[in-house]
Amino acid sequence: MALPFPTRQLYYDGQVRPATSGKTFQTINPATATPLADIQIASHADIDAAIQAADRAFSVWSKTPYIARARILQKAATLLRERNDEIARVETLDSGKAFTETSTVDVVTGADVLEYYANYIGGGGLNGETTQLREDAWVYTKKAPLGVCVGIGAWNYPIQIALWKSAVCLAAGNTMVYKPSEFTPLHGETLAQIYTEAGLPAGVFNVVNGAGDVGAYLTSHPSVAKVSFTGQVSTGMKVAGSAAGSMKYVTMELGGKSPLIICPDAELDNAVDGAMMANFYSTGQVCTNGTRVFVPRNMKQPFEKRLLEKLAFVRAGPLFDDQTNFGPLSSEVHYKKVLEYIRHGKDVDRATLLAGGLGKPENLPHDLQAGYWVRPTVFTDCTDDMRIVKEEIFGPVMSILYYDTVDEAVRRANATEMGLAAGVFTKDLNRAHRVIDQLQAGITWVNTWGESPAEMAVGGWKKSGLGVENGHKGIESWVQNKSTLVDMSGAVATVFAKL
Ligand code: NAD
Repeated sequence: MALPFPTRQLYYDGQVRPATSGKTFQTINPATATPLADIQIASHADIDAAIQAADRAFSVWSKTPYIARARILQKAATLLRERNDEIARVETLDSGKAFTETSTVDVVTGADVLEYYANYIGGGGLNGETTQLREDAWVYTKKAPLGVCVGIGAWNYPIQIALWKSAVCLAAGNTMVYKPSEFTPLHGETLAQIYTEAGLPAGVFNVVNGAGDVGAYLTSHPSVAKVSFTGQVSTGMKVAGSAAGSMKYVTMELGGKSPLIICPDAELDNAVDGAMMANFYSTGQVCTNGTRVFVPRNMKQPFEKRLLEKLAFVRAGPLFDDQTNFGPLSSEVHYKKVLEYIRHGKDVDRATLLAGGLGKPENLPHDLQAGYWVRPTVFTDCTDDMRIVKEEIFGPVMSILYYDTVDEAVRRANATEMGLAAGVFTKDLNRAHRVIDQLQAGITWVNTWGESPAEMAVGGWKKSGLGVENGHKGIESWVQNKSTLVDMSGAVATVFAKL
């Protein structure tokens, strides 16, 4: 039976090329559990060829003036926006995210970052510094690109992750070999074609497909200068270890178990809206999810009542329906993992199930029953030692934890090995800053949750990551510093001039 999309090959040295491994895998539509396309897997020889193409392209691209680089990246951002709905449609089929989300967030926020870094380098953002040391001597610095870099993506924001990695990499003058997640690979070739159409020289952006073994080969390749990785903490540790073995630079964007603290004075509706966005947006498959919701003990009754009322606004259904705001989980393996956590929460942790639980969402149409759908789930009266409270589930599973004092909530919020995101809801400005200042996380929000604009550098503390993406800080890890001391005195200071 013909699949909805043609077989995907690899893309390197400026064009689509067949893989030589002779092996393929299928990408699946998670809403219906049906295959979408065959994907050819890169062999080691294919990966070597892609890296060689990126290496050749580096000598040209790294010398291309900032303003010329910027023009190409801006053109790519324009093309992405022009083709927004077409790309979003494919992302919805591949990832299971509702079209209401992919058409307003995924491509848009990727294109924003591309435009941001194009403007940044075009406006002199990569200029070095000059320091006058003495009247006849000074130091100047240069921000030099690194070389061939590798981008490895997760499946939850496929094209956005590809753009957040490639935009800054290319703006800084590097070239990239990108590997999408094997669960959501369809965007890779589209993005490569858009870059080519925008005028990017052949070999500057390349795509290879495959699973962890392809990723592992990339991260240990001797010709690679840097690895930027998005994925689970456990995989990130392997990737960072492999990269460190050959002294590669790394950026690690990993998982979290982020706390959201609702203070006693918080506006109830806002607090509930924040908690819902922090748990059910994108069916809970957002790295920065605020899955540990700390609520004052005396707010239990109104908080749970309002939350249950608002859960009616979570609407699972056909992914292209403009009422749908909740899709399936993105793959069968992930579906089984999340169900296992829900089962564990009920039967082993013995948390109180306030809403959701095992089974498909109510009123799910018949033709979607085979897909990887779960219910938005809320456990209440949770304790810090429960597995559902300690481990990243990466699905729509909220844990409510009651507390007596804000200091206690902060202490418990920080009692985790992860430190990706954190947030606080309060009307008290001083308290907001005091609490945020104490929370051990790299991405924090006050009275809101989840927005991550191009201007905002984001990255995790502790085991949630290394380095940041986006903002001015995001480009610093894609360049290396060269300091040059110039002496114009006409004489070399030497200790070897006389006996
Ligand atoms: P994953 O770690 O299973 O896979 C991520 C990528 O790594 C995939 O492309 C995979 O093929 C590749 N990979 C697997 N083994 C590898 C190896 N040994 N060497 C090199 N590459 C290898 O993660 P996932 O399930 O795809 O993504 C979900 C995770 O990503 C969650 O933990 C989530 O929190 C995290 N995430 C973090 C951010 C962030 O910005 N911090 C953003 C999105 C997702």
